[in-house]
Amino acid sequence: MSKVIDDDRIKSVTFSNDEIARYSRHLIMPEVTLEGQKRLKAARVLCIGTGGLGSPIALYLAAAGIGKLGLVDFDIVDYSNLQRQILHGTKDVGRKKLNSARDRIKETNPNVQVELYDALFSAENAMQIVEPYDIVIDGTDNFPTRYISNDVCVFLKKPNIYGSIFRFDGQCTVFAPHLGGPCYRCLYPEPPPPGMVPSCAEGGVLGVLPGVIGVMQAIEAIKLIVGIGEPLIGRLVHFDALKMKFREFKIRKDPKCPVCSEHPTITELIDYEQFCGIPQALAEEEAELPVPEISVEELHARLQRKDRFVLLDVREPYEWDVARIEGAILIPLGDLASRMSELDTADEIVIHCKSGIRSAKALRELQRAGFSKLLNVDGGILAWSDRVDPTVPKY
Ligand SMILES: [Zn+2]
Repeated sequence: MSKVIDDDRIKSVTFSNDEIARYSRHLIMPEVTLEGQKRLKAARVLCIGTGGLGSPIALYLAAAGIGKLGLVDFDIVDYSNLQRQILHGTKDVGRKKLNSARDRIKETNPNVQVELYDALFSAENAMQIVEPYDIVIDGTDNFPTRYISNDVCVFLKKPNIYGSIFRFDGQCTVFAPHLGGPCYRCLYPEPPPPGMVPSCAEGGVLGVLPGVIGVMQAIEAIKLIVGIGEPLIGRLVHFDALKMKFREFKIRKDPKCPVCSEHPTITELIDYEQFCGIPQALAEEEAELPVPEISVEELHARLQRKDRFVLLDVREPYEWDVARIEGAILIPLGDLASRMSELDTADEIVIHCKSGIRSAKALRELQRAGFSKLLNVDGGILAWSDRVDPTVPKY
């Protein structure tokens, strides 16, 4: 198996007696021994994201004795993170994720050197951030970042350990064309159209699921570093939590891959937002019929004045059960077409959802059906909870 760490760096590694005790369960395994533990301490691993996947990845790698752990994130801890992002605790809500991650990792293992990159991982900074590391672990959930981490790892010849999660399903593989096997672009040459693949924020995710997939990613990192076992290169493992089934798929190098083939057409980082169609999608939405909006403050004033209008909530019934605005009626977005007869074109209809995205879709659907007196609640029930009625829970 090819080595991902220089022998020179391994030679200079030493351990204190405390560290020998700490890692004793590794040292007594013939597959690891002191030599393997030295490799772990010599290793530099970059984890992109400190969320659902990044949490178990960083915590277990720190506990296992990785020498240097780089973390990339720009986000702030939110209550909705705590169901799965075990690097962060209740007391960390409102703090930078990087800071709570560093504190938690240091508590687990003070011997780990933690390097923080407080930034959105982008074409501008990716090469510089990745360069000093041996392995990259992708713990993010958006397409531009996936393509950036793939391309930069292909260019710099670093293994890119991939994981993804959605609802009850997860996937894991190791992309490393320089060690054989395909890259992410061999599988997905083009990103899906924006909005086609729902995110965990829209579709939800079982809180424990990133634990399973993130731990698989951490195991693959350790195997590559120590140089044992069969790496998950050229194979993709799919996990279905509801059926409790793992399935393995062979994945192959695309001989025409734009980045990892013999004759690549992409040889440097590109504009990934553009590539993933994000600016076009926004422009197309704006070019469509304009969406008239109402602020939550104005909605509140109108409700207080008892103005005549229909307040339509287009979320799902289980969201309605968590939080609702008094006086609203519920027609989930997916049922709108079949239940449109319950609405009257003569009425003014104010539409809301969780954050304003689905309600804008509902508004367009109603516009196309001939409704004209429509308003979209900007920011949805989240803004209502923030700025009008904090007793309405945020979810
Ligand atoms: Zn490829």
